[in-house]
Amino acid sequence: MINKDYHVHTDFVDGKDEAENIVIQAIEYGIEEIGFTEHAHVPFDPVCSLSRENTVLYRNRIKNLKEKYQDKIKILCGIEMDFFSDDNAENYDYVIGSIHYLKVKNEIYLIDFSPDHTLECIEKAFNGSKEDFLKYYYEKASLLKEKTDADIIGHFDVISKFENRGVDFSDSDKNIRPYWENAVNYLSEKCVFEVNTGGISRGYKTVPYPDKEKLEFIFNIGGKVVINSDSHSKMNLLYDFDETEKILKSIGFKQFGFKDRKGTWHVQ
Ligand SMILES: [Zn+2]
Ligand SMILES: [Zn+2]
Repeated sequence: MINKDYHVHTDFVDGKDEAENIVIQAIEYGIEEIGFTEHAHVPFDPVCSLSRENTVLYRNRIKNLKEKYQDKIKILCGIEMDFFSDDNAENYDYVIGSIHYLKVKNEIYLIDFSPDHTLECIEKAFNGSKEDFLKYYYEKASLLKEKTDADIIGHFDVISKFENRGVDFSDSDKNIRPYWENAVNYLSEKCVFEVNTGGISRGYKTVPYPDKEKLEFIFNIGGKVVINSDSHSKMNLLYDFDETEKILKSIGFKQFGFKDRKGTWHVQ
C-alpha cells in the first residue's frame, strides 16, 4: 500500500486545513512522507495563489513542521508552480508544474475552475473550436519544464475535468492525439507525470488524470509516474491510491515516485 503523498494544499491558499493539522492527520493515516505543494504566486491571481508575503510564511511554516515532526514523518516543502507563476524553484525541495490558465491575445482564461469558464474560453478565444483549444493547451503544456522548472507534471489533462458537466472533448480527441503525444515525448525525458486523484475526490471524475490512453502512452515510451492526491482537505490524503495503483499496474507500471531537485528519488 502506498503511504506517501506529494501534492497537498493548505489554508495558505485554497485548502481547508492548516498545515500542522494536515501533518497530524497524515501521521494518523500512517503516512511515511508528505510533500506540501501550495499554489505559487501568480501575478494576476491574488485569490488562488500565494501572496509574496505568504510565500515566505509558507516556507517557514513547512520548515518548522519538518523539524517539529522529524521523528514521526518525513516532510518535503514543494510548490505547485503554474505556467504563469514567478516564484523561484530553487527555494523548494521539488516543483510540480501545472496549467490552470490560458492566455490568448492578452486575455487570461481560467480553465480548471468551472465548466462555464472553460466554455467561455473555447467560445471567445477559439471561436468555439474545441480542437483549437486542445491544441493550444497541449502546446503550452509541452513548455511546462521550461516555464516552471518542474520535476513533476501536474494533472496533465486537467481540461478533461468537466467532461461529465458539459465540456466533452470526445469528438475532438482523435485529432489532437499528436499534440499530447508531442508534449509527453518532450516532457518525459526530464519530468515524472503525476497521476492525480483530485478530480475524483472532488466529485468531477471517476478516474484519475491523465486518462488511461495517455498513461499507456507514457508507459510505452518509458515515462515515469507518481500518484498524488492534490488534496485540499486533510481527509483526502492518499485518496483512491489503491484503485489508482491497480490501474497503473494493469498498464505495466511497477514503481512510482519522483526525483527531487537534489536528484534524490522518492519511491512510493
Ligand atoms: Zn493544480
Ligand atoms: Zn494542486
